[in-house]
Amino acid sequence: MFSRFLAVAFLAVLFLPAGAEARSPKAAKQLFGHVNGPAKMKPRPIGFYTKGCLAGGKQLAKTGPAWQAMRLSRNRNWGHPVLIDFLEKLAVNAKEKDGWPGLLVGDLSQPRGGPMLTGHRSHQIGLDADIWLTPMPKNVQSYRQRESRSAISMLAKGGLEVHPKKWSMARAKLIKRAAESRGVARIFVHPAIKKALCEASDKIGTDRSWLRRVRPWWGHHYHFHVRLNCPSGMAGCKSQPAPPVGDGCAKQLDHWFAMMRPKKIKKPVKPVKKRKKRKKRRVLTLASLPHGCTTVISKGNKTLQKQLRAGKIVGHIPVPARNPRRVAKPQNMLEKLINGLKADGKNTVTPVVENEN
Ligand SMILES: [Zn+2]
Repeated sequence: MFSRFLAVAFLAVLFLPAGAEARSPKAAKQLFGHVNGPAKMKPRPIGFYTKGCLAGGKQLAKTGPAWQAMRLSRNRNWGHPVLIDFLEKLAVNAKEKDGWPGLLVGDLSQPRGGPMLTGHRSHQIGLDADIWLTPMPKNVQSYRQRESRSAISMLAKGGLEVHPKKWSMARAKLIKRAAESRGVARIFVHPAIKKALCEASDKIGTDRSWLRRVRPWWGHHYHFHVRLNCPSGMAGCKSQPAPPVGDGCAKQLDHWFAMMRPKKIKKPVKPVKKRKKRKKRRVLTLASLPHGCTTVISKGNKTLQKQLRAGKIVGHIPVPARNPRRVAKPQNMLEKLINGLKADGKNTVTPVVENEN
C-alpha cells in the first residue's frame, strides 16, 4: 500500500508543469534589498516612485565638497545620474550662496532601486532623496558617526508648530533653493514646516511659486524629501501628476492640522466595537513590478537568471507573470482615482496620490 502511494506521489511530481512545485512569487524587496551593486546598463528609472526599479544606478560619493552621505551601511546612496547631479549642485550652491554648511544626505535608492526591506515605500526609481535638516558638521565624519548621529526634529512639543530655536530662516532658504532647482517635482515636509515656509516666504523673496512644489506629508520633520520628475525621453518612467494649483498655504493646510490635533475623547455611549484589522499592504513581487525590473535585477546574476528560466522565481523574462491582468489592476485603480479627483475638481492632497514615506 505504502509503495503504491509513493509511486503515485512520484508520478504526480513528474507530471507537474516545469518548475511549478517551486514557483514562488518572491517578495521583490528580498531581491532588491540584498543586491550590492548597480545593474550595468544605460541609466533609466523604470516604473513609478512606489513601484519600480533603477537601471544604471550611480552612487553618490560618501563625502563631497559640501555633503556627507549618512547611514552608509544601508547602501542606499544610489540614484539616477540626474539625482546625483542635483544633490551635488544643491550642496555646493547652498554653501556658496546661502552659507548652509553642507548637506547631510539620507536615503536615496538601493543600487538597483526597487522595494526596500525596511522603511520607505517610495525611493524605488532613483529619483527620490532625503536631506537632513541638521547642518553638516565641519569634520569628515567616521563611518560610525554616520551610523549613530541622530537627526534633529524641527517640531515643538505637541507637534503642531516648528520649534523657534530649532527651525531657522537658513533652513527655509535651503528648501526654497531645492524647490526652485530644475527637475524638482515635489518636496515633502511636515505640515508644520510647510506652514513655517509659507510664513517665511515673503522674507526670503518675492516669488511664491516654489511653495506649490513643497507638499505637506507625515513624518518629514527631521529631513525633507526631494522628488525629481522623470528625466525627458525616459519611456517607462512614470511621473506623478503635477501638484494642485496654488501655494498650498493657509486654508489649504487646514485639513492637515485638523487631522493632527488631538481628538477629545467622548464617553462611549455604546460598548466600543472591536477595531477591524488593518488590511495588510500588498507585497510587491518581481512579477508585479514593471517588466524591465526583471532584467535589472537579473543583470549579471547567472544564478538568478537560471532560477527565472526554471520558473523558481516568477518574473517577466522568460517566465511571464502568472496572471498579467491582476498585475495591471492596481495601476489602473490609481489612475482611476487620480482621474476621479481631477473630474471632481478637488485639489486636496490625497494620501494615495502623494504616496510618500
Ligand atoms: Zn524620503
